[in-house]
Amino acid sequence: MTRLKVTLLAGGVGGAKMAEGFAALDDVDLTVIGNIADDAQFHGLWVSPDIDTMIYTLAGVIDRDQGWGVADEGRRALDTLKRLGEDTWMFLGDRDFGLHIHRTSRIAKGERRSVIAADIARSFGVDAKIVLPTDDVIQTRVRTEAGWLGFQEYFVRERCAPDIFEIAFDGMETARPTPEALQAISGAELLVIAPSNPLVSIAPILGIPGLRDAMAGASAPRIAVSPLIAGKVVKGPADRMLASLGHRQDAVGVAALYADIIDLMVIDTQDAGLSEDIERLGMAAATADILMKDARDKAGLAETVIAMAGRVAQRGDAA
Ligand code: GDP
Ligand code: CA
Repeated sequence: MTRLKVTLLAGGVGGAKMAEGFAALDDVDLTVIGNIADDAQFHGLWVSPDIDTMIYTLAGVIDRDQGWGVADEGRRALDTLKRLGEDTWMFLGDRDFGLHIHRTSRIAKGERRSVIAADIARSFGVDAKIVLPTDDVIQTRVRTEAGWLGFQEYFVRERCAPDIFEIAFDGMETARPTPEALQAISGAELLVIAPSNPLVSIAPILGIPGLRDAMAGASAPRIAVSPLIAGKVVKGPADRMLASLGHRQDAVGVAALYADIIDLMVIDTQDAGLSEDIERLGMAAATADILMKDARDKAGLAETVIAMAGRVAQRGDAA
């Protein structure tokens, strides 16, 4: 059986749900290009929240209720750190700590971060290829009323409460794409942008010099799935972020951010009224039920996206 080579650009929780959908299909060979701009050091250890969420989800060890972290976690290591006077607002479970120790010790030996991530995924039994967009360090910062915050300070410590007026990606200008990421884009038969936060999960992938151009020049059909339904997120701050940064707070606002790099935007059935505005951006629009509540929804949406790709390809052939 020849398997369809699907490359998914994805952040954390929303991205991992879409990845699970493709991973459930036998006829798909899945590669995920994940987001590393949420990475931060805690207690001397490198934590990579979006990549770890992706790996834990595809490995089936994720805590299903919260959507991140390992199921059946303990907090003994964290309690010790707290007793020793350290800041422990970033929850890191005992099992999870093991992974961060491993990653950090290999980084200290000079290994490429993308090799480390791929090895971790393989060790956890993940079939999909996990690719990092860069081996360099990129870190998201956000400007709020209280000044600039590191991304995890905003997301975890402040629980996304402050409004965001500006986003910066430290290290972006000098970052170089990994050959694996460029190959995953040019060699894909279908490129999908997951319903992830466009501003802090997908933008820091596309912002790495060369990656947006690779998407623009790719020959495969390119499809994005909206993270917003009826102008609202399923979870997280993407809707408020879009609004406070001057974008439309709906699927059209998301599509506009991808106007130069996608052929088709998949929006929710209840957003059918937005199709015209999306088509005016120079791409096709299609509707589906894009809320993924369970494994069936996820695989079903992945199948729908693949079926839609056939339509994009035919449109190209006919033109
Ligand atoms: P994070 O890195 O953990 O914040 O996760 P992502 O950036 O990958 O995804 C966050 C986005 O996923 C949010 O904007 C949610 O609205 C979106 N999302 C979560 N679940 C679903 C879903 O079932 N369907 C759709 N369409 N979007 C979802
Ligand atoms: Ca994230």
